[in-house]
Amino acid sequence: MDARVYNGVALAPSLHADVPKRQVLLSLAVLAVPCVVVCGLGFQLLRQEGVLEARRAEEGRRREVARVETELLANLERVKLQVLGGSSHDAVALIAEIHDGRLNLDHGDSERFRASLHSLDFGAAIRRAEQEESALRLNEAEQLYRAIPVGRADERAYANLLLARTLKKAGRTTEASQVIDSVLRTPANYRDEFGIPFALYSAGVHSNPAGALRSLSSHFATFSSAALFKAREIALSAGTNELLPTLDRWIGDRRRAEKLHADFHRFSGRLQTEERVWLAWGERGEPMWLLSAMPNNRALIAVDPSRMRPPIIFSKRGELLGANFPGLRIEVPQGTNTRAAGIRFQFLALGLVIVLTLLAGFLISRDVERSLRFAEMQAEFVASVSHELRTPLTSIRMFAELLRINDDIEPDLKAEHLNTILTESERLSRLVERVLLFSRIEQGKQTYQRRRQSLEAVVEAAARAFGAHASHSGFRFSVECDAKLPDVEVDSDAIAQAILNLLSNAVKYSGMSREIGLRLLRQGGNAVIQVVDHGVGIAAEEQRKIFNRFYRVPSEENLQVSGTGLGLTLVRHVAEAHGGTVQVESHPGAGSTFSIVLPLCLEGT
Ligand code: ADP
Repeated sequence: MDARVYNGVALAPSLHADVPKRQVLLSLAVLAVPCVVVCGLGFQLLRQEGVLEARRAEEGRRREVARVETELLANLERVKLQVLGGSSHDAVALIAEIHDGRLNLDHGDSERFRASLHSLDFGAAIRRAEQEESALRLNEAEQLYRAIPVGRADERAYANLLLARTLKKAGRTTEASQVIDSVLRTPANYRDEFGIPFALYSAGVHSNPAGALRSLSSHFATFSSAALFKAREIALSAGTNELLPTLDRWIGDRRRAEKLHADFHRFSGRLQTEERVWLAWGERGEPMWLLSAMPNNRALIAVDPSRMRPPIIFSKRGELLGANFPGLRIEVPQGTNTRAAGIRFQFLALGLVIVLTLLAGFLISRDVERSLRFAEMQAEFVASVSHELRTPLTSIRMFAELLRINDDIEPDLKAEHLNTILTESERLSRLVERVLLFSRIEQGKQTYQRRRQSLEAVVEAAARAFGAHASHSGFRFSVECDAKLPDVEVDSDAIAQAILNLLSNAVKYSGMSREIGLRLLRQGGNAVIQVVDHGVGIAAEEQRKIFNRFYRVPSEENLQVSGTGLGLTLVRHVAEAHGGTVQVESHPGAGSTFSIVLPLCLEGT
């Protein structure tokens, strides 16, 4: 590794510029390794947590589907039992008998009743009684109706209907009503040749048709189309309008039932062998029906799931329900996903840890870099001071040696050598003084003896001290002072030393220029001491840094000039200790103007 040379003094390789980089990289690595390990472990944990969470969610969904299925099945089976018990349910769309694997929508044997009407005993007896009734021999007709030989209960119901009509004609309304009531109570599958229940006919002639019709409403599910239209007609004439929507719905359901009738061969086998299975049936654009066999397997029940309370809503994309509902899917509510929120939080926490670690890494590396940079500057300072000390010491030793060995030296030359020894030892004292001053400032021990006085006198004293040196070095040195400036409260030695520092810099960094100016002027409530040169100037980005201790602009040109990087630090300290500031205005290649701004002692302040 190369050693770096400052003003002829070699720095130890450990202070080479690569060192900070290495240190920074090392401290980053110390942070980065645990950070990477923590991140790796964190991500691994989160991944596992994610997998577990997915499994838990899947399990939860399955359980929820099973729960929904059981609940659905229980509700639907309850509807079946309700229907079996003789009551109705709003969601039932159809109840139809199954005969030889086919649906029987008529719910009765109209052919059989037609045959009864043409039979010799029942049919002939009915006709005879009707002849008497139409001849208004009502007593005879009544006797005949009462005596009709009935083989079956539906035949009795029909005969009773005709008997009630005759009794009404005879004005025996109370008896007629009793008979009508008895017909109203007959089962709804006692029907005539058109499939219309006798009970419905009885409702049409009842003294309270609306009430009678309402009592039959639980059987609408089993009514044929003809029966439903008849019921609608009775409802209209009886003014039971509230039944109209129900009847219209049943008429619609019946129309769909006709389509199901044609389609039924597809399901019949399955429905009759599998108990408690509910199959979906429906045509495009129409509400779906759920079909199932009644417990005796001799009838089909169709339920419209949208009419259940609460309505059952199947979906195309949700979870498949179990074997009781083949092919049916339902959307399972997700529930509050607190686990997912937990994972999100853990990701955030991990992210925060990473960001904080990187931030800490950045701050530490910046700090390490600063410390190393400062150590490097201190080393540069030691090298510069050593160099500054060595030059005058060498001269002093050399001229003292010359005087010692040359006894017969000419008086003029002797005086010149002694003068050089004196100048160099003064230079040495100045340097030592500067370092001591800096040390006092650093320790906070430097004090200033401030006195109210004319700044013009201080500036002129500094100009006098510098003037001889300037002309000796071939510089044109101009001084301009505003004589009417109010007093300032200053430590004249410290201010003069600060001015001399600036003038000395103006000489050192003048390049080819040989012109330096010193001005004292007023700007508002301040006195401004300006040192102007036309030398190398300072780049804008360096202007803020040059007041830092040990800082020297690292240009080739500058490093040829001896210096310690302390001069401007001391100037700034003096200015600030007097309640003022130091400013610089500079352009590379055009020169610089340094200004010490100090507050004036104005009347009344
Ligand atoms: P140094 O002992 O190096 O002169 P200073 O603190 O006095 O230390 O100055 C700091 C740096 O500021 C110098 O190294 C130099 O690069 C720059 N500088 C100071 N005065 C001038 C000037 N008049 N013209 C150009 N550069 C200057």
